[in-house]
Amino acid sequence: MKKILITRKLIKDSEDKATKIFEAKLNSNDELYSRAKVIEMSQGCEAVLTSLTDKMDEEMINKLPNTIKVISNFAVGFGNIDLEAAKKKGIAVTNTPEVLSDATAEIGILLILGACRRVSEGIQSAKESNWKWSADYLIGKQLTGTRLGILGMGRIGQKIAAIAKSLGMIIHYHNRSKLSVEKEQGAIYHDSLRSLFEVSDVLSICCPATKETENLINKETLEYFPTGAVITNVARGDIVDDVALIDALNKKKIFAAGLDVYKGEPNLNPGYLKIKSVFILPHLGSATKHTRIAMANLAIDNIYEFFKTGNCKNKVN
Ligand code: NAP
Repeated sequence: MKKILITRKLIKDSEDKATKIFEAKLNSNDELYSRAKVIEMSQGCEAVLTSLTDKMDEEMINKLPNTIKVISNFAVGFGNIDLEAAKKKGIAVTNTPEVLSDATAEIGILLILGACRRVSEGIQSAKESNWKWSADYLIGKQLTGTRLGILGMGRIGQKIAAIAKSLGMIIHYHNRSKLSVEKEQGAIYHDSLRSLFEVSDVLSICCPATKETENLINKETLEYFPTGAVITNVARGDIVDDVALIDALNKKKIFAAGLDVYKGEPNLNPGYLKIKSVFILPHLGSATKHTRIAMANLAIDNIYEFFKTGNCKNKVN
């Protein structure tokens, strides 16, 4: 039986599956292992099942024992892993696409609704029982007829587009490459960021965090948006320059923001907490039991497939 290290606690069904197939080292207390501890625990193992809390940078990868052949990430995003460093060391990196797209799209829509309809302020007022209904009380932005820009219309972006369309939104998107007509579902393609942002009354960020997308939302690009636009991010915090977005919110250039992900999680920029129109969640994208089991099972299957066939369909490096 192959020995593997699973760095974080998984839902029991998935841990049971892992221990049937592998000699798996589990993290029953869900301790946040230090870098040194991950290196120590991976001695004698042939694969590591990592989570987004594990920063597998070049230094870390180079310190892994030479027996490690696979890093199986318990996420579709892999911005926490240096793919090139892994490749150089002969380590395959895999991810868990598709199985989390529905759950994450639901949170993407929640961010749009939460930010547009001033849900943070509404919850606060309702809890304090200090509100009085009036014709202009907590007026928000209606989704029907509003233009939604999707930055990164991939698996999750396309699902958000389908739901948003059913709510009456008009969908625009930007990817580096145009989708087929079938995948576009009537959405309007923009070949540049600027062109997309200029028509985005609401933006949903759904692209991966890469060197290319880091701080794509910044002081300059925020100027492209119509005044009073709403920015939502269900992808990764690294895509947004927080200082620039907080400044645009304070100046009312941007009406509201809906955020599930942050730079330096779990410590989000405190500037966001001072702005009433910001709707925040603690990285809940894939957080349903069904999805977390499916993700963990896929992460385990990826390791199994790699050792059985020498390759894996979800290999990303
Ligand atoms: P995906 O299917 O690979 O879609 C990514 C999309 O982004 C593609 O359409 C891609 O199109 C586009 N893209 C990539 N680089 C771009 C760039 N430089 N400029 C513009 N567009 C770019 O990925 P997915 O499964 O939808 O997941 C998307 C991201 O969501 C993940 O990377 C992950 O970070 C995040 N996520 C977050 C949560 C959460 O809990 N909040 C959960 C799951 C996933 P082109 O290649 O044509 O550019």
